[in-house]
Amino acid sequence: MAHEVTLIPGDGIGPETTAAARRCLDATGVEIDWDVQAAGLAAVESDGDPLPERVIGSIKRHRVALKGPLSTPAKGYRSANLALRERLELYAGIRPCRALLGVPTAFPSTDIVVVRMITEDLYAGIEYERGRTETDRLRALIAETEGTRLPDDAGISIKPISESNAGRVVQRAFEYAESEGRSTVTAVHKATVMRHTDGLFVEVAREVAAGHSGIAFEERLVDTVCHDLVARPGRYDVLVLPMLYGDIISDLGAGLIGGLGMAPGVNLGDEYALFEAAHGSAPRHAGHNRANPLALILSGTMLLRHIGEIDAAERLDAAVATVVREARTVTYDLVPVGERSAAATSEVADAVIDALEPAPAS
Ligand code: NAD
Repeated sequence: MAHEVTLIPGDGIGPETTAAARRCLDATGVEIDWDVQAAGLAAVESDGDPLPERVIGSIKRHRVALKGPLSTPAKGYRSANLALRERLELYAGIRPCRALLGVPTAFPSTDIVVVRMITEDLYAGIEYERGRTETDRLRALIAETEGTRLPDDAGISIKPISESNAGRVVQRAFEYAESEGRSTVTAVHKATVMRHTDGLFVEVAREVAAGHSGIAFEERLVDTVCHDLVARPGRYDVLVLPMLYGDIISDLGAGLIGGLGMAPGVNLGDEYALFEAAHGSAPRHAGHNRANPLALILSGTMLLRHIGEIDAAERLDAAVATVVREARTVTYDLVPVGERSAAATSEVADAVIDALEPAPAS
C-alpha cells in the first residue's frame, strides 16, 4: 500500500526544492501518495491564513510531512513554523550534520547530530520591552526577591526550561543514538551561569542517561563545544541542547558540512513528524532554479527511514553521496569560486536519480 505523506511546497525556493525532493523520493520506487498542501505566503493569498486548518488536518491524517521553508511575513501574521510546532506538539528538532566527501569544507571529519529543544528557552517569546509599566513591575519584583537592581532602561527576555519538556527531548536524543548506532550523547549547557534552567536541563539529562546504559553520556559547556567543533571536528557524536544553543550550533554544523544547502532535519513530537531542511526560503534565489535541493532530499531520506523504507533511504543517501563526490552536477554553493559552472536545482535532482541504484526485485 502506498504511504500517504503531506507535502508543503512552502515559500521562496521551497517549490523548487520540494519538487526536486519529491522526484527523487518517487524514483526510489517507494509508493507515496503526496497530499500537496499550500501554506505560508501562497496560503495567505488563497485562504487569508498562512496555516489554514486543512494543512493541520492533512498532517494529522497522514502523521508525516515533507515541508519546504515558510517565510515569516514582516507584519500581520505570526510565524507559521511556530504555529505548526504548537498545533502538532512537535518538541524535538533533529539535524544530522555529516560532511560528505566532496563538499567544500575545512572540516571533513564532521559527523554530528544536533538534537535540540524547539520550544521554551529564550525563544518562548516572553519579552518585556524597555520602559513599559509591566517591565517596571517585573524589575521591582526582581529587586524585591533577588536583591538585584536592573537598570531603568533594561529590556528583559525570560528563559523558561521545564523538566518535562527537557526530559522528552533528551529521551529522543538517546533513542536516536540507539537507532542510528551512535555511541555518545553530550548534553550542552551553560549551567555554571544558569543553574535553574540549564542546570535543570543537565540534571534531567543525567536521569534520562541512566536509563540508556548502552550509550555513553557526557556534559559540556556550550562555549567548549563551539571551540571543539572547529578545533577537533571529529570529537562529538550526538549533541542535545536547549533551543538557543541548538539553533546556533545547528547552523554552525551546517557551515562545517558545506553550508545550509546540505543540512537536513526533522521536527518530532509523539504523534507527528515534519521533515524539512535547516535553511529558510532564501528569497534572493527563489524562482531561479539554482538553490541546492540536497538538504531537502536528505530530509527525504530521513523520512524514508521514519516510514520504514530503509533500503530506499540507503540507496538515496548513496546516490546523493555519489553526486556530491563526483562534483560534476552540484549547485553554486558547492562550487568553489572560479571553478566550473554551477548546475540547476532540477539538474541536481536528475543527477541524483541517475545515480540511484534500482530497487531490489521483490
Ligand atoms: P535562509 O536560510 O533562507 O537563507 C540564508 C542564505 O543561505 C541564503 O541567502 C543563501 O545564500 C543560503 N541558502 C539557504 N538555503 C540554500 C539552498 N538550499 N541552496 C543554496 N543556498 C542556500 O535564511 P534567511 O534569509 O534568514 O530567511 C529567509 C526566510 O526564511 C525568512 O522569512 C525566515 O523567517 C524563513 N525561514 C524559514 C525556516 C523554515 O521554514 N523552517 C527556517 C529559517 C528561516
